[in-house]
Amino acid sequence: MLTKTKIWLSSPHMGGTEQTFVNEAFETNWIAPLGPNVNGFEKDLKQYLGDDNHVAALTSGTAAIHMALMLLNVKQGDEVLCQSFTFSASANPIVYQGATPVFIDSESDTWNMSPDLLEIAIKDRIAKYKKPKAIIAVHLYGMPYKAKEINAIAKQYDIPVIEDSAEALGSTYFGQKCGALSDLGIISFNGNKIITTSGGGVLVTKNLKLKEKAVFLATQARDDAPHYEHSSVGYNYRMSNVLAGIGRGQMEVIDDRVQARRRNFDFYKSHLAQHKEITFLEEPEGFYSNRWITCIETPSFEYREAIRLALQEEDIESRPLWKPMHLQPVFKEHPSFTDGTSEHLFDKGLCLPSGSNLTEDDLNRVLDTITNTLKS
Ligand SMILES: *Cc1c(COP(=O)(O)O)cnc(C)c1O
Repeated sequence: MLTKTKIWLSSPHMGGTEQTFVNEAFETNWIAPLGPNVNGFEKDLKQYLGDDNHVAALTSGTAAIHMALMLLNVKQGDEVLCQSFTFSASANPIVYQGATPVFIDSESDTWNMSPDLLEIAIKDRIAKYKKPKAIIAVHLYGMPYKAKEINAIAKQYDIPVIEDSAEALGSTYFGQKCGALSDLGIISFNGNKIITTSGGGVLVTKNLKLKEKAVFLATQARDDAPHYEHSSVGYNYRMSNVLAGIGRGQMEVIDDRVQARRRNFDFYKSHLAQHKEITFLEEPEGFYSNRWITCIETPSFEYREAIRLALQEEDIESRPLWKPMHLQPVFKEHPSFTDGTSEHLFDKGLCLPSGSNLTEDDLNRVLDTITNTLKS
């Protein structure tokens, strides 16, 4: 009997040389949160993002956001402005610091932080004597946010921007790599991201002193002494040398992975073009998305659910778009500045299987299931 295998939303895709770097770690006994692979992976990323960047390899993208907030001295009682339409890991570290997230809705051109709502929020908080300590903007699904507008507002009010590029390695904004567009950036290498170390992340900064401080805090904040001496609270956030080996192998294939994800997008878009009810997020002029996940917008919640359930029936994973943070039970008491954009996307949008390892047969299976639903 022919059994169909499950099609995943986004699964790990090894390039081939990862294991060589991992074996090297074993052979040299660098089984620790430091070593040649950690240095090598940081160097690969520095080269990729641009030589004016400094990179600190950490245990996760979440740890990198937490570290960025600590470097900006975000403390108990502070407020941090955060894109509402995102994964919860963008906002959770604000709470780790005892600070309060204030959520900002998206605009429809990129699905990311609305510059208009951002400015309204900043003015409101300043009028209430609560000037925000930082802004967390997100390149969601790999689509860059409007960095010129966001950065200009941030500069006008002198508030630093943390660039959550967890989903956007390989995306560019007017030719500049995402992850390196602002004061502090972060990238994730979780198992579902465009490349992976199974779990991991990096902090990206133009300031070498900040990188050094991040590494210091991430390795238990040990002062320079023969014994263990501590004058600040430390964290165990450094990336393992074994996992960094996977990252070095993955960096060899990053360009192929971006091309494959963009091909998935083009495939879905070209074959679904005749169905006017299904729409796709286009790249504004100067924006280049890695198309980490291909998302569609449908006319209604019911319409979206019909497609999702038909795919599920065929053992194909799909998922509604991120549920906005201002609607999440854990965050809904916090202030928010919204206009319905992300709520509408959450209602009607769907993420389609988008892995770089999908075969032609896989893609056709997804497409056939969707087109059958549209006919019935
Ligand atoms: C994955 C992700 C994170 C967190 O990264 P981890 O490495 O999984 O901790 C943060 N923000 C966004 C937008 C993400 O998609």
